[in-house]
Amino acid sequence: MSRLEIRQLTKQFPTPAEPLVVLRGVDLELQQGQSAAVLGPSGSGKSTLLHIVGTLDTPTSGTVELDGQNPFALPEPELARFRYRHIGFVFQDHYLLPQLTVLENVLVPVLSQGAATEEQAARARMLLQRVGLEERMDHRPAEISGGERQRAAIARALVAQPALLLADEPTGNLDQTTAQSVARLMLELQEQEGFMLLVVTHSLELARLLQRRYELKQGRLVSQP
Ligand code: ADP
Ligand code: MG
Repeated sequence: MSRLEIRQLTKQFPTPAEPLVVLRGVDLELQQGQSAAVLGPSGSGKSTLLHIVGTLDTPTSGTVELDGQNPFALPEPELARFRYRHIGFVFQDHYLLPQLTVLENVLVPVLSQGAATEEQAARARMLLQRVGLEERMDHRPAEISGGERQRAAIARALVAQPALLLADEPTGNLDQTTAQSVARLMLELQEQEGFMLLVVTHSLELARLLQRRYELKQGRLVSQP
């Protein structure tokens, strides 16, 4: 049973004057199959929090435990492997590589660890089918729509069967209708696959689709109805 536990997480950025304190003690727990949204205006620290949970940045203090492991105790090569096996990311920008096909893009995380097995390639194709891109697998990102690119990015995030999917404003670049369908799709996949889902966003509409909501206020999470 996968599990995420964040305890008293703080983050400060050094500045020439006094340090900029962004997170002042964030606590959060998620279990397999659970989803939560963190709301907050621009500059409130949402991306900072997500980057630390995703092990792309380190906390100033506090702990993150994912599936019983403290990722920050791992040396870099093992940390990269841990990230690959446990965490998927979806960002506001799709970050698909323009020269690769949609299918190749979905396999990029797998290829970072070595050649894809037939099973991994089959999972990539299955995910593309699940996100409605079975007819677009051999297209380049420039040949599909913005919503389709974000769907491909979701498939890529899930290719290694992560325990935790992290999404930073995943619908921020999409029009309202497309945003809604991409958000629903992400939640459908979550229901089927059971990963933990943590979304940071300023969109209340998106946050409402998740099981729990918090607001990041003065560096702490405050429960929202
Ligand atoms: P949000 O995602 O909620 O818009 P961020 O987490 O990106 O907010 O940023 C929170 C605050 O931390 C902002 O004031 C931002 O300028 C600052 N910040 C973010 N990253 C860095 C960094 N690497 N160095 C210095 N300040 C940063
Ligand atoms: Mg942000």
